[in-house]
Amino acid sequence: MRNGTGEILRRLRANGPLSRAELARRAAISSAGVTKIIAQLNADGLIREREGLGHAIGRPPVAVSLVAGARRVLAIHLGAGRLQVAFSDLMLGLGPARSFEFDFADPIREIISATADLAAEVLESAGPDRGMVLGVGVGVPGSVDASGRVNTHSILAGWRDVAFADAFEAALGLPVVLEHNATAIAMAEARYGAGRDARSILHLFLGKGIGAGFAQTGAGERCAPVEIGHVVVDPGGPACRCGGRGCLERFFSEQPLRDMVGDQGIPRSALVGAAMRTEAWLGVYEHLLQALSTAVTLLGPERVVLGGDLNTAPDAFLEALRRDLPPRVMPQQRQRLTVERTSLPEPAGVHGAACVALERFFYTTGPAAALRVQRLAAST
Ligand SMILES: [Zn+2]
Repeated sequence: MRNGTGEILRRLRANGPLSRAELARRAAISSAGVTKIIAQLNADGLIREREGLGHAIGRPPVAVSLVAGARRVLAIHLGAGRLQVAFSDLMLGLGPARSFEFDFADPIREIISATADLAAEVLESAGPDRGMVLGVGVGVPGSVDASGRVNTHSILAGWRDVAFADAFEAALGLPVVLEHNATAIAMAEARYGAGRDARSILHLFLGKGIGAGFAQTGAGERCAPVEIGHVVVDPGGPACRCGGRGCLERFFSEQPLRDMVGDQGIPRSALVGAAMRTEAWLGVYEHLLQALSTAVTLLGPERVVLGGDLNTAPDAFLEALRRDLPPRVMPQQRQRLTVERTSLPEPAGVHGAACVALERFFYTTGPAAALRVQRLAAST
């Protein structure tokens, strides 16, 4: 359902500062409606109004902008072997991240409890501003249920049906929402990063595995994980942990690239560059191109964004994709398709988790609904 407050907040995020008249026009809300919403946002300390927008003669229009520091969300990224926690303001400005290393083979109960302890410490550090924290976003390494509460399956971690939201809500007393890491990072990239001026992006991410997320903003917003690592590029090829054979991940992810380079100690950020200098590169690159062009053909993103350890790949890698990808997709896609590096700073996963929390607890309905959820959660 369309929510006027959410409409106004999203426009201020994307295009602010804006005059009230411009807000009314862009959000298609009556000026009386905008006045009412602005009064409430002002009372909540979420916006500020300043004179001096534009070049109008006479009384200058008043510019409305978001107060980024007026509320916060807590972001938790459960990545491959590393857990990170940080606060984010309303414009995805992150505070310092705290982290610890873990192993996917560790008992899940221990991982949850260590995560909750670290998150509680970070919450404590907010002091009296603790009440300004709207909720918690958690990025997990696999698919989540439709309500964003359970990590239903993680091939990378070997987890099934882990109820992270229940566990963290009980431990932290705040509403919690989960999202697949790949989707969360794609959403952050689309709203705040290299996808800001594109209607849809495919965010391709090299870490331990190779993953992707699709995000479409504006009209018809949607986002989804794209299991590009498990597109079969060599039928009958080597067995994959997903149960299939010949998946892209068996050729293009951390371990196979390391094996190709013959150096187990090289930093992951230098891996693609080193792999490009080997004889086997062309075959592996062809596999990547096959899976990527399939994803682009099916999903039709305007932009492919290279994240994680693809962001540090040599320019020659970016240039090769810009040259080789367009001829492999449909003509109408070819004309507008661009390939860019990420512009989200590290840690990308924490930015992703923060973006998910901001969408759920602020930009969809404004902060009031999130606080209501919080009180309900606290009273049960
Ligand atoms: Zn697979």
